[in-house]
Amino acid sequence: MRLLFLGSGSAFTVGADNFQSNLLLISETGQKLLLDCGSDIRFSLHAAGFSHRDITDIYISHLHADHVGGLEYLGFSALFDPACEKSNLYVSKELASELWERTLSGGMRCVEGDIATLDTFFTVHPIKSQGQFIWEGIQFHLTPVVHINTGYFVMPSYGLFFEIAGVKIFLTTDTQLCLDTAESYYKQADIIFHDCETSKFPSPVHAHYQELVTLPATIKQKMWLYGYHPGSLPDAKGDGFCGFVKRGQTFEFH
Ligand SMILES: [Zn+2]
Repeated sequence: MRLLFLGSGSAFTVGADNFQSNLLLISETGQKLLLDCGSDIRFSLHAAGFSHRDITDIYISHLHADHVGGLEYLGFSALFDPACEKSNLYVSKELASELWERTLSGGMRCVEGDIATLDTFFTVHPIKSQGQFIWEGIQFHLTPVVHINTGYFVMPSYGLFFEIAGVKIFLTTDTQLCLDTAESYYKQADIIFHDCETSKFPSPVHAHYQELVTLPATIKQKMWLYGYHPGSLPDAKGDGFCGFVKRGQTFEFH
């Protein structure tokens, strides 16, 4: 099993050096699970040597465009390509209707001779609260994390906790640093891929490097950082982290 970072940048990634943080998990049997599908996907997928035909499964963590903005491209590509089958789409039940009604339907609802739904383009697997989905024998547990607190309600992102070949992996997706909710996952995981903002002008909706650097050494030493801004980066290895994930970097689990 191979985990490939098609990109490791933030929503504000510009230029050719990096793409948005969308990942591809490739099984021994050739199945390919896309972990988030942002507006960069047309470029990041092709830059890694893949096309829309390769994607068999998709997971969506939340509804920002750097995570869902490529679904129209993938959905239409599959619909009009006779060689392409519908992808499975795994998404929290709470997000599934919003994904269609508030994000995708504007561009995808009208097809010649019909009115489309999300099921026209994808085989949808809504996931229950505290739920999980299974792909290639791997259980992916959804771990809601705090992405945005509006003051009225919290908009979560759904991170993933899963185990491949005995290695426990925590992928935060977009998140603030929330020790009360995430600490048990930090402790259980063997490897953590953590959202890490590096902007000089921090937004409150992503964990910032200056916060993450204060974590205990035992956690930092299993933590890879991604979702960072373009430009120069701090010395993550020197500060006790595994490092910043580079675009195209792969992690093998056997
Ligand atoms: Zn986000």
